[in-house]
Amino acid sequence: MISLLIIDLDDTLCDYSQAMARGKNAVSEYFKEIGVEPSAFWRVYNEIEPMLFRDFTLKRLSTADYRTRRYEDVFQRLNMIVPASMIQTLNGLYMKETNDGVRLFPDAVPFLRNMKHLGIRTAILTNGPSDGQRSKIRALELQNKVDRIFVSSDIGVAKPEPKAFEYVLKSFAVRRDTACMIGDSLPDDVVGAHNSGIKSILLDRENKHPDFEGLKASDLATTQNILFNG
Ligand SMILES: [Mg+2]
Repeated sequence: MISLLIIDLDDTLCDYSQAMARGKNAVSEYFKEIGVEPSAFWRVYNEIEPMLFRDFTLKRLSTADYRTRRYEDVFQRLNMIVPASMIQTLNGLYMKETNDGVRLFPDAVPFLRNMKHLGIRTAILTNGPSDGQRSKIRALELQNKVDRIFVSSDIGVAKPEPKAFEYVLKSFAVRRDTACMIGDSLPDDVVGAHNSGIKSILLDRENKHPDFEGLKASDLATTQNILFNG
């Protein structure tokens, strides 16, 4: 019997991809105004940013350095010299859309409400900088819809590290075989939970993993069916 659901935030409860696309769009519009070709920038950014984010989750980079270097390193690679103030402007434009402009998926609130009615406890476990993730959670009004919220940079460890999952289990004092992780990331949410001895359901809203053989759902209503009807 499941007593605790550990739920990812980005692209699980909220449509972060869409917010990110709008953030990138805002930055691209700014580039056009100052005569920079956006496609060249994003090509290098998409290559560099995931590595910087990984370094951030592994505590090799501070939040401030992560946010600066995702622009600085790209411009450096493109042999462009830009003032620090422009990097702040770009980051501001991007974060305004991604953190304040993000929306919940329509199935998120009904799902969390159902879990509450069923007496299942819920926790959000999300990787990212505390201020950004928490302002997103406030904008989405999720604080009162789950029992607890864990942000990697606050607890000092990130998914897929087993210690991140252990931290959540310990704070609820539940056995790992009564917990279930729900998330869209195969490496962070599903493999991370598996390596911690916790079962999981991959939330694959866009069928990005057609060959995945474990438990998988296309939305949160299906997730609920899997949880309670097997
Ligand atoms: Mg996610």
